[in-house]
Amino acid sequence: MKVIKNVLQMQRIALKHLKDDDEIGLVPTMGALHDGHISLFLKSKKNDDVTIVSIFVNPVQFGPDEDYLKYPRPIKKDLEICKKNHVDYVFMPSVNDMFSQNHRTFTEVKTMQDILCGHFRPIHFRGVATVIVKLFNISYANRAYFGMKDFQQLKIIEKMTKDLNFRTKIISCPIVREKNGLALSSRNSYLSVDERNASVNISKILKEAMQDFKHKDLVSVKKNTLDKLQRIINSKIDYAEVVNFNDLSIADKNTKKAVFVVAIWIGKTRLIDNIVMTKQSTK
Ligand code: AMP
Repeated sequence: MKVIKNVLQMQRIALKHLKDDDEIGLVPTMGALHDGHISLFLKSKKNDDVTIVSIFVNPVQFGPDEDYLKYPRPIKKDLEICKKNHVDYVFMPSVNDMFSQNHRTFTEVKTMQDILCGHFRPIHFRGVATVIVKLFNISYANRAYFGMKDFQQLKIIEKMTKDLNFRTKIISCPIVREKNGLALSSRNSYLSVDERNASVNISKILKEAMQDFKHKDLVSVKKNTLDKLQRIINSKIDYAEVVNFNDLSIADKNTKKAVFVVAIWIGKTRLIDNIVMTKQSTK
């Protein structure tokens, strides 16, 4: 495993692999790696000749009052995890190398970037889309791996990739959860024991919504779910919405494949989760 800290060097290495006809897989992360990230590495290891994991806490996707500075950065442990999972390259650029003082170019995915999390984090998806474009151009990836955990992010990246004709294929990967259902997240480390116990209810409630959606009407599923989420101790809901799987538009009674997406504060920690829901076939 090689650790590359320089943009040009990573680009040269990736270009060499491209010329050798190696298929390159990219897994963009912000580090504090857990089994959710590892599931992405393993998928790339299966599909690609070369797996590049980027670890970069991207400043341009954090708002001024967000957790950029306190975001966990356990570099030594992360490198051990990458090594153990046979990652070929860990790309860990510095902030200055990725975003010079004079950086002026940003990528926007209109409308999709402004709803759900975008409503509460106005510059977030512009920052995400921009860093992903840069990582695509640095890694020459044939495939890039994203978790369904960040469903809005996944849909935005898919759209951007299509709109801008990137050659990189987006591979979506299922949410990895703890046994109790809590979706793994680097931010779970902020939770106290009591908050963690409260957080477990989010996935339980979403699972019940998924069951109800099969045969109940959308309005009642939404209302019941919202009621239950509001009863979680020490919580504040940013949004709890049902959207179409394909394009994040608000679901209606005709929607067959939907996603219940939530963002919820547990104490001072903002958690997101979602569940895919499909109507029961009447045949
Ligand atoms: P992050 O380091 O939080 O930026 O996440 C990097 C990638 O890992 C993103 O594509 C996430 O969607 C994905 N990811 C994070 N948590 C999980 C999880 N619990 N299951 C699957 N993928 C995840």
